[in-house]
Amino acid sequence: MKKIAVIGAGTMGNGIAHVFAQNGFQVHLIDISQASLDKGLATITKNLDRMMAKEVIDQAKKEATLSNISTFTNLKDGVSQAELVVEAATENLDIKLNIFKDLDEVCSADTILATNTSSISITQIAAATQRPEQVIGMHFMNPVPIMKLVEIIRGYSTSDEVTQTIMQLSEELGKTPTEVNDYPGFVANRILMPMINEAIETLYNGVAGVQEIDTVMKLGMAHPMGPLQLADFIGLDVCLSILNVMYNGFKNPKYAPCPLLVNMVVAGKLGVKSGEGFYDYSESRKAEQVSSQFK
Ligand code: NAD
Repeated sequence: MKKIAVIGAGTMGNGIAHVFAQNGFQVHLIDISQASLDKGLATITKNLDRMMAKEVIDQAKKEATLSNISTFTNLKDGVSQAELVVEAATENLDIKLNIFKDLDEVCSADTILATNTSSISITQIAAATQRPEQVIGMHFMNPVPIMKLVEIIRGYSTSDEVTQTIMQLSEELGKTPTEVNDYPGFVANRILMPMINEAIETLYNGVAGVQEIDTVMKLGMAHPMGPLQLADFIGLDVCLSILNVMYNGFKNPKYAPCPLLVNMVVAGKLGVKSGEGFYDYSESRKAEQVSSQFK
């Protein structure tokens, strides 16, 4: 497998494209927004520069990685030769169902269709296609070039062969794949999101401030980042939609999103990507805070 298409050039899509391209795959990066593609490529370049500064890669590797990536705004053109498509578009059921319906029509019959969804049912996404045995969850973690885990989620119909291919491919990327079954939140977010939601509830109830809550979890529990800052990095809109999927999927009030999280998303305070969440990411502060996370 050498030809990969990645759909969505946002936080996750650009990282996924980066990792495949750095490992010698030809990557077609597709987004409906040219501005997102430009921003995604700029982020990949910046992250490669950071790796060069740390002597993880050299100039030739940076250039080879960038030359492996082409960008597209047209889905059909972008996926026409892909052996694997990894969808990393906005976390919205209708958007994903439409993308997979289109992919099923335009991709060749043996193309594997993977989704990076954080929480939406793989089985439901697969049902939008005529090839549910070739649809699988490939859940990379943020930031993709750094995080080792790929949570591999088998839908109800995903075949053993496709699962093995994707497990092996993830290892070729230098990642550690872990196989799980398809239930709301899978494993990673079923455990992580209730913690983040509880941190937001703790703030909402006035028990402590943002810095204090994050400090308790960083220094007290040895977490590399506090839950509120982690929520800012993930995107508060993404956190809200994952909690809603678990709330609706399990019909259990313990997953109900905190009203403060709902309000912040409605107000457009989405975390790092919008410039403000629990912390301020305005240009001057952003460089300082983001770089401190990736030392
Ligand atoms: P994002 O908002 O940063 O980027 C989404 C991108 O998808 C945007 O550039 C948007 O223009 C594009 N897009 C929307 N509709 C499209 C379409 N029909 N065709 C092509 N492109 C389209 O989102 P993100 O944080 O990168 O999340 C992407 C996926 O990855 C989601 O499913 C999310 O749940 C999952 N995920 C996110 C994280 C995280 O930490 N942010 C971690 C793991 C998984």
